[in-house]
Amino acid sequence: MSFAHSPLPYDMTALEPHISKETLEYHWGKHHKAYVDKLNAALENNAKLSGASLEEVIKSSEGGVYNNAAQVWNHAFYWQCLSGNGGGQPSEGHFLTALHDGFGSFEAFKETFSQKSATLFGSGWTFLVKNTQSGALEILSEGNAGCPLVHDHFVPLLTCDVWEHAYYVDYRNARPKYIEAFWKLVNWSFVESNYAAA
Ligand code: MN
Repeated sequence: MSFAHSPLPYDMTALEPHISKETLEYHWGKHHKAYVDKLNAALENNAKLSGASLEEVIKSSEGGVYNNAAQVWNHAFYWQCLSGNGGGQPSEGHFLTALHDGFGSFEAFKETFSQKSATLFGSGWTFLVKNTQSGALEILSEGNAGCPLVHDHFVPLLTCDVWEHAYYVDYRNARPKYIEAFWKLVNWSFVESNYAAA
């Protein structure tokens, strides 16, 4: 059994002008695919993880297997967090109330998430998660292939990929400009459904 390169949930031009077709051709078509191919190659002769789900591999591996598995999951999740019809703000409801409870306001949440994304050193991911032990929303800065699924009490709701490959084609070194563009694409109904299921 091997893991599939999950299809993009939209076409290559759907995120323009904020994220270009060229970025998706490289980011989804080459970077994401390479993680899938490397994971499958690494698991080919791994009897212990044979038949394991992607989440099980992430939770029970380390080193190269973990890095590639987590990157496969993180990217599939990231694509779903975006939409050409995204942006704006969450609709009135439990998720928006939780954001207000956790951060004071939607704008304050955005500012904190943006600031953590802009200042994360090197490559990584910013995640909004629900902490199922406390019930609170939290923002996690994860370096490299960090993935909240390694902790049983974190349910990922939203992520922003801040690896340079996510923005260098469109924004060169200007990560904050990419983060501004990211907000214009966030698929809040996906985020709300993650919260409802958490
Ligand atoms: Mn990436």
